[in-house]
Amino acid sequence: MTDFLSRRAQAIQPSATFALSTKAKELKARGEPILDLSLGEPDLPTPAPVVEAAHRALDEGHFGYTPTAGVMPLREAIARVYTERLGVEVDPSMTMATQGGKQALYQALATVTDAGDKVAILQPYWVSYLEQAHALDLEPVIVPCPAENRFRPDLDALKAALDDGVKAVILNSPSNPTGAAYDREEMARLADLILQSGAVLISDEIYEDIVYGPEGHVSPLHVRPELRERCCVVTGLSKGFAMTGWRIGFSIAPTWWTQAMIRLQGHTTSHIAATCQQTAITALGRRDLVEGLVEVFRRRRKRVVPQARTLPGTSLFDPEGAFYLFLDVKELIAGSSAMDDSKALAEWLLERHHLAVVPGEAFGASGHLRLSFAASDAVLDEAFQRLDEAFAQL
Ligand code: PMP
Ligand code: GLU
Repeated sequence: MTDFLSRRAQAIQPSATFALSTKAKELKARGEPILDLSLGEPDLPTPAPVVEAAHRALDEGHFGYTPTAGVMPLREAIARVYTERLGVEVDPSMTMATQGGKQALYQALATVTDAGDKVAILQPYWVSYLEQAHALDLEPVIVPCPAENRFRPDLDALKAALDDGVKAVILNSPSNPTGAAYDREEMARLADLILQSGAVLISDEIYEDIVYGPEGHVSPLHVRPELRERCCVVTGLSKGFAMTGWRIGFSIAPTWWTQAMIRLQGHTTSHIAATCQQTAITALGRRDLVEGLVEVFRRRRKRVVPQARTLPGTSLFDPEGAFYLFLDVKELIAGSSAMDDSKALAEWLLERHHLAVVPGEAFGASGHLRLSFAASDAVLDEAFQRLDEAFAQL
């Protein structure tokens, strides 16, 4: 029956993050003592004032269709908040609400590329960039961000990709999975290369709230505001507000681009739930709520980084943003006759040690494991104990 499937559909791989967390949930439901550090989602509840806003939206009867991009008060709220956060004038016509950041990314990519076009993807990359490129019949051009370079892109490789005619570059700072967050100088160097090229930039800033350094989040628009003519910023409420399941994302892009994305969305999902739009208006007015959540991640990072550093045969990049540890396990694997790669290691950890983590292969970076520290202290302590015992057996 798979003969019926298009080549495009056959090329799309399942989301490794969702596949793993689904498996972990199934094992847990069967009574296995699973610890799940696979999925990147805050373990904390959505802040109460935001939940109350959702109740209010239901009571007020926001049940019907809305304009595709979202109701005007929502677009105005996005414009107000991101004019301040990005430091460039954002008009409501440059904004739209999407089913999570993921839909915004897909629409941004779909509206600036045609089948066969090249898209630059920085590696290690988040799982969905490559598969979205496959879904759109694009040719991914991989730009390495070596660990020796603190997961910053090889600028010569990026320049070569741009010279080779890539249509779009996808950037993700703070990065999932590495936790790298570029500073102003690094961002400016990158932005300049894009400005000198004929490419557009899709800047995935979904982790904009979760940055640990004193400089805070750096958007390419902070350092090169002139990029706004061809930059689509993708963000949303999933991470900073602990609202992953609500599916509320935003894009901020020039009007020409936004209009095309609205046309596309008008034929696919139409718009995000009317009640979620009302809820998002409240959340956008309460950025103070984010700080409490970020403080929790800040504290956890301080706890888990030293714990991870004691694991035998591994090394760790200290995450500058987001909530992942990207553990280098190459030495551990090289010293073990039982393990061929990090995929096998992750499978073994799940089956034998009941610990779900994502292998680096999912991000184009074999030899690594990604551990989400968006979990409770108790779960994290136990997870590190299991890792310690497991690695000692290899
Ligand atoms: N970009 C990155 C880098 C992510 O990690 C995620 C994870 N959720 C997304 C985009 C998509 O976010 P959302 O859940 O809002 O679709
Ligand atoms: N982005 C999160 C992760 O990488 C959630 C899963 C997903 O959206 O793929 O784990």
